[in-house]
Amino acid sequence: MNEDGVTADGVNELEEVRCSAKGCHRGAVHVLVWNNPKVHAPDREKTWVACDDHRQSLADHLDVRGFLLRVEPLRVTCPTCGASFPAPQSSCPVCDGLRTGSCGSRE
Ligand SMILES: [Zn+2]
Ligand SMILES: [Zn+2]
Repeated sequence: MNEDGVTADGVNELEEVRCSAKGCHRGAVHVLVWNNPKVHAPDREKTWVACDDHRQSLADHLDVRGFLLRVEPLRVTCPTCGASFPAPQSSCPVCDGLRTGSCGSRE
């Protein structure tokens, strides 16, 4: 009874995305989309992820070089149902909603 990604009590845990900043282990909540025109094709999009603390410094780092395209909220995808929603979430709102809202009857 060992289903991958499902804990003993049946709550699926989402893998946390770590900030791209060196030495930072916080969960990322932003995605920085960038492209270096000297080495990347114009339609190529590179991404960094950042926590709240590093969003600005990483964005500035790319922006001064003219690489920054845009900053988006990080979305995570549930490995169980495939739903995507903004980070940070420790569990899937869809699966969790199904679990807690299952069956309307309450005794
Ligand atoms: Zn960080
Ligand atoms: Zn789900």
